[in-house]
Amino acid sequence: MGLLSEGSPLSWEETKKLADHVRKHGVIQFINLFKRLRDRQGDVLKWGDEVEYILVKFNDVEKTAKVSLRAEKYLSILQEKEHKDPDIVKSLWRPEYGAYMMEGTPGKPYGGLLAHFNVVEANMQYRRREATRLLESGEALMSLTNFPRLGAEDFTDPPAKPNPHSGASKSLFFPDEAIFPGHPRFKTLTRNIRSRRGEKVAINLPIFRDKNVSLPFKENLDKFGDDGSSEKAAKENHVYMDAMGFGMGCCCLQLTFQACNIGEARTLYDQLTPLCPIMLALTAASPFYRGYITDVDCRWNVISASVDCRTEEERGLRPLKENKFRISKSRYDSIDSYLSEQGARYNDVPLTYDDEIYNQLLDNGIDKLLAQHVAHLFIRDTVSLFSEKVHQNDSEDTDHFENIQSTNWQTMRFKPPPINSSIGWRVEFRPCEVQITDFENAAIVCFVVLLTRVILSFKLNLLIPISKVDENMARAQKRNAIRTEKFWFRKDITSNTQSDDIKEEYTEFTVDEIVNGKEGTFPGLIPLVNSYLSSMDADADTHCSIQRYIKFIQKRASGELLTTASWLRKEVLSHPEYKKDSRISERINYDLLKKIHDIETNKIPCPDLLGPCTISKTSETVPAAVTKAENCPSLD
Ligand code: ADP
Ligand code: MG
Ligand code: MG
Ligand code: MG
Ligand code: MG
Repeated sequence: MGLLSEGSPLSWEETKKLADHVRKHGVIQFINLFKRLRDRQGDVLKWGDEVEYILVKFNDVEKTAKVSLRAEKYLSILQEKEHKDPDIVKSLWRPEYGAYMMEGTPGKPYGGLLAHFNVVEANMQYRRREATRLLESGEALMSLTNFPRLGAEDFTDPPAKPNPHSGASKSLFFPDEAIFPGHPRFKTLTRNIRSRRGEKVAINLPIFRDKNVSLPFKENLDKFGDDGSSEKAAKENHVYMDAMGFGMGCCCLQLTFQACNIGEARTLYDQLTPLCPIMLALTAASPFYRGYITDVDCRWNVISASVDCRTEEERGLRPLKENKFRISKSRYDSIDSYLSEQGARYNDVPLTYDDEIYNQLLDNGIDKLLAQHVAHLFIRDTVSLFSEKVHQNDSEDTDHFENIQSTNWQTMRFKPPPINSSIGWRVEFRPCEVQITDFENAAIVCFVVLLTRVILSFKLNLLIPISKVDENMARAQKRNAIRTEKFWFRKDITSNTQSDDIKEEYTEFTVDEIVNGKEGTFPGLIPLVNSYLSSMDADADTHCSIQRYIKFIQKRASGELLTTASWLRKEVLSHPEYKKDSRISERINYDLLKKIHDIETNKIPCPDLLGPCTISKTSETVPAAVTKAENCPSLD
């Protein structure tokens, strides 16, 4: 594993003492990097997806499904061919937080050909087959946002008991054995986030109030070995969780795009921001936590709370004494500021940052918008530091910058080029929940990539105030948001007219209206995508794939097809063993996951979720004839 070169993790006490050192050098490293790469031009569109998976172990005799803690073993096999020759592999595999998780990406990023949209799904299928071949009997690789009984009694295979009094999480429910063991980063982060906060993380999700949930709903935490701290942190009528694993143990679908230069990257970063909550609502896939049905459909706030390392002072519960700032959000949350000139007027949330760092960035020729972005990232302390990485050459290394950057887990990430590489300025789109089938995941990926092309070529303007994006993030996670919520969205996205009063520029729409359009009022994202595509010639198979994806997105948005979250709820609520008590028993969990596995392997159709079955025409490679025939530059 490439990551292993990092060496040995420092203790929390040592790491804490080096927080200012990492900050100081991280900022200098960014300045040096910026000076070298600010004028980099002419990179072409490249893009790629990341899909996270969980390993599930079925026991067909006892009718149970557990998470299988064997990812490390499979990863070491899956990475062998990459170690031998990274240039020819069709997939790359990486560890993730859970000992039961893996992340797969295409072997190389895709490029500007329309025909690449026809390769995405086939590559996802290839990854699934490739990893599945290695599995033990009874095991399955599943792209599921959350394992429904994660943290419920006896949820792992092999069995492991939580260690509330020792270990990295000190969780009542989530054993350290469920954290990926092959690299110290994951346990170190877990320990340090808890230590920095001064107590265990606390996640409270409203419980779904079905008929037989007796209210107030409050669990007896004594029986789990609570020392009283969980009792204090757990809220009434909520499902309580107390470990990083409940959030970082969830799976997601991410996308990275390379821009032609820094300016285009800043534009894409901004323009995709208002789409984050919309895509979160559209991909909602995680209503179940710790064996309970909750009243939310998404993982977002769970992860946010699961790595919330802010102290009581920073959270505003005590007057500032030890710490420098009140901080309004967890280090995992939606972004706080736009980066482009066009975005400046929509930056309406006060940004916390250290003036000294901000001024240092300005003094080095970095403009205000980028300076405040970077200074704001650097309000966070390092929560994972390795002895070999403490002392660095600030004009060649960027580890301290990357240390802070990569532990600011936000809806969008602005990725500078690595020094001395062929990679350009990139932007990562991070809100989406992962879907059950490769078809759905490919559809979402292709839709978002097409949106970036439409945004750039039609010069769309989707910007609304950051505070409204934040409101939308909260709405997106509500149960059935796609059918019941409205979202703030810009009224006129095709012309760049500004009103004296920003409030005139946006209003509330349903996801259906945003995606499919509203007669006489709003054009809709899909009609814009279609008009963009109408000027381009795709080969027949690619055209067919893109149309399947577009139709699917349209139907999800209109509510004709269920979101994954709604479908999961429906399945559990109609299970013969379900007792209207908002609990997912071992048997319900088993039957549900079996069915999901049958759907993802095409054994059974699922029209509620996917629509009428259509045969996939995707292929693992772009045929040479297509490469030549296609008008290549048009996608760029
Ligand atoms: P991270 O985990 O830091 O987000 P990964 O390396 O796991 O990054 O995945 C990044 C994604 O970016 C992958 O899908 C990969 O194919 C894609 N990618 C790689 N190189 C480029 C590039 N130059 N431009 C855009 N995307 C790229
Ligand atoms: Mg990755
Ligand atoms: Mg992750
Ligand atoms: Mg990942
Ligand atoms: Mg990523």
